[in-house]
Amino acid sequence: MIALDIGGTKTLAWFSCRKRMDKFLRYSHLNLKKINHEEKFCIFDTNSINREDDFFEFVSLLKSVDENIISTFPGIVEMELGEKPRFKVFSKRFPFLIGNYLDFDFVINDAPAFTYYHALSFFNRKENKDKTLLGVVIGTGVNAAYMNYWDFRRLNFINRFFEAGHISFDRSSNTCFCGRSGCAELYLSGRYLEKLGNGDPREVFMQDDLKEKYYSRLADYIISLIVTISPHEIVFGGGVSKDLNLKDLKQMVENNFPHSKMKLNINFRKDVSALSNVKGLIEIYRSFRRIRRFLY
Ligand SMILES: [Zn+2]
Repeated sequence: MIALDIGGTKTLAWFSCRKRMDKFLRYSHLNLKKINHEEKFCIFDTNSINREDDFFEFVSLLKSVDENIISTFPGIVEMELGEKPRFKVFSKRFPFLIGNYLDFDFVINDAPAFTYYHALSFFNRKENKDKTLLGVVIGTGVNAAYMNYWDFRRLNFINRFFEAGHISFDRSSNTCFCGRSGCAELYLSGRYLEKLGNGDPREVFMQDDLKEKYYSRLADYIISLIVTISPHEIVFGGGVSKDLNLKDLKQMVENNFPHSKMKLNINFRKDVSALSNVKGLIEIYRSFRRIRRFLY
């Protein structure tokens, strides 16, 4: 099996067999950023596969290495259930694919994949069966997915629209790549941090005024998510999360809550492992194959 995690800037390809990864590396012309032989994955620029010819060349190379391919996708995935499930995708990052089928065995957005990975341990604890989990991924883009126990068990999050990065902050403001304007991710994503820090996203976390500006927007965003879905735990993922101080963020969220300062009984934690999305994806695929005949 090959499990892909297609992100806005970087794409990760994980291989179940090392020999197949070696074959892929031998024939690919991608701009590789990282190769991890031990854990059988490599990372390369998404730019090298987001043009039509490059993308299909990449897919045909993958298929020559291993027929069984599953993937996350940075946009909306519409799943058609049936004898052979089909996955129609919509993302302005891949304009030539909009409304087309991806010829893979399973495809889902990265936010539910990330959240599902954490749901496995979260809902394994008896005291959490009646609770809810929110996964927030902040990388090149921003997204979030929310699950309760039954969403987790029955894969009820399939065919839902998780595009929380495109919640509107200010419609009169800048245009987002998605075609709308003023989207939250324009003010929260790695790309925004890069702009704010004059090319270096980490600069934002080192300068008090920039840090304050970023945290206050992020706190507003997290408050919007909390007042809408009120989760019991929030797990942060994605490249930007590495630099986030969750204690400071939580404090800001509590201080700026509507009506009054609140002491929120919500656990904030983070996971910045490179493999969480593909691990979640693999587990959803396993569960999907087990229960798909019961799905609506
Ligand atoms: Zn947008």
